[in-house]
Amino acid sequence: MSFERFNLDPKIMSGVRALGYTSPTPIQLDSIPPIMKGNDVMGLAQTGTGKTAAFVLPILQRLLPGARGRVRALVIAPTRELTEQTNKAIGQLGRKTGLACVSVYGGVSMQTQVNALRRGADIVCACPGRLLDHVRRGTINLSKVEVLVLDEADHMFDMGFLPDIRAILKHLPAGRQTLLFSATMPAEINTLARDILHAPVRVQIGHTAPAATVSHTFYPVAMTSKNALLQNILDTTETGLVLVFTRTKQRSKRVAQHLEASGYNAAALHGNLSQSNRQKAIQGFRDGRFKILVATDIAARGIDVCGVSHVINYDIPATADAYTHRIGRTGRACATGDAITFVSGEDRGLVSQIARILGSKLKYGAAKGFGSAPDGPGRPASSGRLASPHTGIPSDPTPKPRSRPASRYRPVGVSQQRSFRRSSKTV
Ligand code: AMP
Repeated sequence: MSFERFNLDPKIMSGVRALGYTSPTPIQLDSIPPIMKGNDVMGLAQTGTGKTAAFVLPILQRLLPGARGRVRALVIAPTRELTEQTNKAIGQLGRKTGLACVSVYGGVSMQTQVNALRRGADIVCACPGRLLDHVRRGTINLSKVEVLVLDEADHMFDMGFLPDIRAILKHLPAGRQTLLFSATMPAEINTLARDILHAPVRVQIGHTAPAATVSHTFYPVAMTSKNALLQNILDTTETGLVLVFTRTKQRSKRVAQHLEASGYNAAALHGNLSQSNRQKAIQGFRDGRFKILVATDIAARGIDVCGVSHVINYDIPATADAYTHRIGRTGRACATGDAITFVSGEDRGLVSQIARILGSKLKYGAAKGFGSAPDGPGRPASSGRLASPHTGIPSDPTPKPRSRPASRYRPVGVSQQRSFRRSSKTV
């Protein structure tokens, strides 16, 4: 199945080819035709499925022939990082179209954005708060918007943005096309969807299952031994880029400092950092200067970095959906990846929730010297060998050390070689 079937303009196809996309992902196959027909779409898809191109390609196609220099498409997203990423995808896919995209978010100069908007934008990617500022100051005109995208709507709700979004909606033409993407459907997003979508085509990919081709391994460990276990894993595992998740900003900072002090190239990414430091951390991670990024959920949401081989949940995520989002950072459209989760005694309930979305019985290995396996649904009958074909963590009880003594743990994991649910073909 190729992109030719969508009859996209050759200028847009040149962007598709430049990014090396050969066949559409399932969300693209299902969403692009109805979006191109002008339907409203409700897309239930997590990040990592290719959903950005699913809405960007039809938007470029629609905007290509019309008048230039006024905002005809608006993409609203919860975080600056996601906004920048979408802006970048539009720039890459639309490189030959001459369409101008401007991003709008807080924490950076208002005037720079005002100047960019004055120069003329065909597409705006925005975070809700700063966009509303522009609307109220009259520095953006949304009266010509033909397509509105609400990306990661559930996350915007989590972050308290729904009132801002409803206020922005009042400034948009009623006859526009609206596309809403969300990884989950809490009641509030269902209500919003009912209010703003007209006869939407519903597209659902993968539901809440984690991204394809990720192996999942759980390590019981006492809270006080997490740093030692993390270091042990990093020392004995072949990794590409590693994304470590912590529950709090403070812990993200402390773990990154600890890793740096132990000689790793690590950086922290959390909401207390200034915008420029956040960008430095992400850019440094992207270009490999930092091999390890220690992040909180909100700061890392939507980060699209190729080459993340391991996601390590230093702290277990607060919900099963958050697990899906974190794991979405590895095993992205092109690759396989490993998810490693540290589990302490009090995490039992969450482990059962995660087991449900993984759809497999979890097994634990004995993490010798690092704590004991929790009781409960996933408790193993025995501590068998690691079942993952592509984890870099050695399944041999005496793994090869690089710079430190042999590993003291023996993990047992669950391997998932899943396809996107709709199709047996993955990219
Ligand atoms: P997204 O879910 O939009 O964040 O996309 C996840 C990753 O998949 C990004 O790195 C995209 O560049 C990549 N991607 C999107 N569509 C395709 C495709 N059809 N073929 C290969 N990679 C893709």
